[in-house]
Amino acid sequence: MVVRCSAIQGDSGRFRAMKTHGEIDKGMQILGVLKALYPDAQSELRFADEYQLVCAVLLSAQCTDKKVNQVTPALFLEYPDFKALAAAKLETVERLIGQVNYYRTKSKHLILMAQRTMQEFGGLLPRQHEQLVTLAGVGRKTANVVLGELGTEPRLAIDTHVYRVSRRLGLTRGKTVRKVEDSLTKQFAPSTWRSLHHGLILHGRRVCKAQNPQCSTCELKHLCKFGRAKPSTSE
Ligand code: SF4
Repeated sequence: MVVRCSAIQGDSGRFRAMKTHGEIDKGMQILGVLKALYPDAQSELRFADEYQLVCAVLLSAQCTDKKVNQVTPALFLEYPDFKALAAAKLETVERLIGQVNYYRTKSKHLILMAQRTMQEFGGLLPRQHEQLVTLAGVGRKTANVVLGELGTEPRLAIDTHVYRVSRRLGLTRGKTVRKVEDSLTKQFAPSTWRSLHHGLILHGRRVCKAQNPQCSTCELKHLCKFGRAKPSTSE
């Protein structure tokens, strides 16, 4: 059965179709709890403009935000914009970001990304998803994060926390990142994607951890398929 709910009306004014009343209620309840738990949820990466944003997000792949925040001040001091980074020496970038995972590959990608931005986009970060993903080191998830942060195009990025927590909560049965993204973007209105993204990330980091989810004290347990099924003796 397909129903429509005014509570999840999208930015475009069109209603988002869902399968059942139960799923609508559960999704909105989960979002409500996440917003109450993390009212100021936002990216933990530090950046001041779109140049710093794309660099920081590129560096954050398979690396903690904390580690990225430790290396970016020196990187941005040495290379304050796309033009400077496009002319950078690879060895210098490698030295500056040497603490992050895959720093050699990321150093190459940073320089190539800046060079293409200068050559193809006049030194301005492209705002179209299909253009963003042509930049070195910018895949679908990175482009989604960048556009979501810029607020220019609603996008829901699926990182490891969003993937794990949304599946445990029963919001999706998707077994690939793309299927989880498609499932969540069908269920939730674009205006909620930013809150959902950051809320699920913070809940994944603080409570619904990969190895040891804190189900007994989790505020979402009553709504969670995984948490309700988990024996309390195992915590
Ligand atoms: S009840 Fe457990 S599995 Fe469910 S969201 Fe909370 S911590 Fe995660």
